[in-house]
Amino acid sequence: MSASSTSRPVRLRVAPSPTGDPHVGTAYVSLFDLAFARQQGGTFILRIEDTDQARFREDSEQQIFDTLHWLGLNWDEGPDIGGPFAPYRQSERLDRYTPYVDRLLASGHAYHCWCSTERLSQMREAQQKSKQPTGYDRLCYGKTREERAALPGFSEVPVVRMLIPADLDTRFTDLIRGELNAPHPDDQVIVKADGFPTYHLAVVVDDHEMGITHVVRGEEWISSTPKHVLLYQWLGLELPAFAHMPLLRNVDKSKISKRKNPAARLTWFREQGYLPEALVNFLALLAYPPKEDGREVMTFEEFVADFDWSKVNPVGPIFDLDKLGWLNGHYIRSLDSGELARRIVGHLSLTGVLGPEPTAEQVAVITVATPLVQERMQLLSEAEGMLTFLLVSDDELVVADDARTQLKGDPAAVLDVAIPALEELPHWVAGDIEAALRSALVNGLGIKAKFAFTPLRVAVTGRRISPPLFESMEILGRESSLARLRSLRATF
Ligand code: GLU
Repeated sequence: MSASSTSRPVRLRVAPSPTGDPHVGTAYVSLFDLAFARQQGGTFILRIEDTDQARFREDSEQQIFDTLHWLGLNWDEGPDIGGPFAPYRQSERLDRYTPYVDRLLASGHAYHCWCSTERLSQMREAQQKSKQPTGYDRLCYGKTREERAALPGFSEVPVVRMLIPADLDTRFTDLIRGELNAPHPDDQVIVKADGFPTYHLAVVVDDHEMGITHVVRGEEWISSTPKHVLLYQWLGLELPAFAHMPLLRNVDKSKISKRKNPAARLTWFREQGYLPEALVNFLALLAYPPKEDGREVMTFEEFVADFDWSKVNPVGPIFDLDKLGWLNGHYIRSLDSGELARRIVGHLSLTGVLGPEPTAEQVAVITVATPLVQERMQLLSEAEGMLTFLLVSDDELVVADDARTQLKGDPAAVLDVAIPALEELPHWVAGDIEAALRSALVNGLGIKAKFAFTPLRVAVTGRRISPPLFESMEILGRESSLARLRSLRATF
């Protein structure tokens, strides 16, 4: 079994199921799809596989759109934008599968099965007990409805199964792994009792009708591929190429799942303050080697230019959040500070620190303060801790408990000297603030800088760790800075 050799226009798709918060694997597969599609001048398609009604979640489709757009993984055809092969939602394509099923039934490659779920589980149990291989025993095969109805375990509404040949060649070629051999499959159900196609039928029909040339999906589908290849052959359809992406693993090597790991959820990365370009770079590196010189920072454009299926590493990559944090810090530092300020504002708005429409004043203060924090941040979410003191009024400022414990020595004496020194300062600029405080406290009081400045940092920012103190005071302004120093002084 090998992929077709005719040169059709390159078309790839990602086919997520809207079953809740989008999985990071959807972005990972989309990225590799898109890189190849862009390199080949091809088309990238988003198809929503929503035929599993039991697992369907209403808002999940919109979350898929939003998170993929956020990552810049934009599709050329999809349910929201349409395209020449619409509809792109499986539930809207239900009538398309029937003619294919009829052909398979007519040619004898598929058959009806009336076995009830109880009968199937009894059969499976018996097989397991007697250590036989499990699989459908073909009780219904070759029987008319009447013949079958005379036997036990009959269910009124049949399913349709594939008649998998005993001598099926289960080998196929994978773009990443070369020749693969999957286990011999069972007589797969292709139409369920509710009349809905199963994934196996729908994926083959949709990929065929949408002209998909390269089927890229997770490694968990390897065992299904021989069944799909068989459907292509029985139906006389042109075979696409297959690429099975290595599964993402937790540090303990287990498969990454939304249930066990928050980082399996795409929305989590956004909430945590990762930059889309860092996450895209990280997802590429999960299965793709760094540049020849070992450089791990790689733009999407570089990835596209270099892309080659044979370089994709088939071994399950470990999801190392430390590496992602490091990359994120790198991307944060390399942004223009105005752009970083925009991202910080967006993030604080997303997480509810700022309202949905931040005020011009809030935006202005964040823009001025961003250069102070740019070197110190790995995640956009850290901006909240570092910049909140600029966004709250003097009365609202809360001094954190861990900041208060930093007050060693005699903070009241420090504040008693600092306040008048600052009141007299002619120009409220960072350099002058620092000079005045050093002279009054370090020289005047003869105490170490650490003891001198900690009470001021705690008073002004409420935090143990903050942007540089004197710049922070300059941005906050004289009046607010002094009000906060006086207010801390009053607590002693
Ligand atoms: N709906 C399947 C999934 O979410 C798609 C698998 C495929 O790409 O064929 O994994």
